[in-house]
Amino acid sequence: MKTKDIIALFDKYVIPNYTRYPIAIARGKGVHAWDADGKKYLDMFPGWAVNGLGHCHPKVVKAIQAQAGKLLHVPNTFYMEPQGRLSKRISENSFGGQCFYCNSGAEANEAAIKLARIHSPKGKYKIVTMRNSFHGRTLATISATAQPKYHKGFEPIVEGFTYVAFNNLKAVEKAADRHTCAVLLEPIQGEGGINVGRKEYLKGLRALCNKKKMLLIFDEVQTGMGRTGKYFGYQHFGVKPDVMTLAKALGGGVAMGAMVAKKSVAKSLVPGTHASTFGGNPLVCAAAIAVFDAIESEGLLENARLMGEYAMGKLRAMADEIDLIKEVRGVGLMIGVELTIPGADIANTCMDRGLLINCTHDTVLRFMPPMIVKKRHIDQSLRILRGVLKKAAAKKR
Ligand SMILES: *Cc1c(COP(=O)(O)O)cnc(C)c1O
Repeated sequence: MKTKDIIALFDKYVIPNYTRYPIAIARGKGVHAWDADGKKYLDMFPGWAVNGLGHCHPKVVKAIQAQAGKLLHVPNTFYMEPQGRLSKRISENSFGGQCFYCNSGAEANEAAIKLARIHSPKGKYKIVTMRNSFHGRTLATISATAQPKYHKGFEPIVEGFTYVAFNNLKAVEKAADRHTCAVLLEPIQGEGGINVGRKEYLKGLRALCNKKKMLLIFDEVQTGMGRTGKYFGYQHFGVKPDVMTLAKALGGGVAMGAMVAKKSVAKSLVPGTHASTFGGNPLVCAAAIAVFDAIESEGLLENARLMGEYAMGKLRAMADEIDLIKEVRGVGLMIGVELTIPGADIANTCMDRGLLINCTHDTVLRFMPPMIVKKRHIDQSLRILRGVLKKAAAKKR
């Protein structure tokens, strides 16, 4: 099918709850994607951070194929080897916790919110979250997300969330009262425009949570699985959470989410309190184990670190030359380029020219290349971006 035929199907049969670019992606390999009409793109935002290893990484594809022929699904009322093995990998590469599996980031955060409440003494139920956060689209997770635009029309939202400014320890100190059971935040905010948490802030939150007996919960849905150059975002700051949530890149492209909790906290989730039918099935766990294998055997944490520095260096040089760029920030391959003008048109023009990137928070262009990216792909994508920005700058003058 050609792009226009696919779009016609959507117009008739698919609920129009997304703003879609008029591109139908048909195939992907590594850092490249092809549309239904055969046009090739350099994908510097593959799968909204889901395809952390790029499209169809051969190790992930092979693991899925092998597992698909063996066992696809069994309920969580049985044991299964892939879920056990994956949990060991996650635990040993993070803070030694135990895992619960679900199918998305929102569900992982739902699990964390439920765990925080059930783990805490009666009457302690409130959770402090941050402005410019994003935690998902279920009722509880839009309630955890501070921005009113996510709540509008869906009220009443879930009770018990208190919103404060990000990177402001005093604000959390003030907001946390005797009813507060947890602080939930992204160590590096994604949808909010790539805002990096300050080290002293995160350390301060850890100390505050210890003092007031609150859980520190990190939403690592976007920052997790190596994108930042370490497996998990928090590992840049020398602060360990009690609970973290994962999804997006965890399954290398298949739908999965996880909540990881310290054993002393995890034990509160006794049988009957929480569950997920599909969560952690053999197919998705086999894919996630292959993601860990690929990251380790191909040195991809190191590559993410090096390529992130390379890209940010080049972008900062570009900022000196083009005054439409206000700031370049990020960690590893989680990069935001804040513009002085709205970024949607810039991203769209880049896409017309064969570069897939994203714009978030109105003015922030988001680069989240896959961990397999090479210098030449970064060079090529920044050449396209530079051309688009130069043209926009000339028009503005
Ligand atoms: C994408 C995202 C979510 C929501 O994940 P879904 O899989 O869309 O439910 C939650 N938190 C963060 C930080 C995210 O980036």
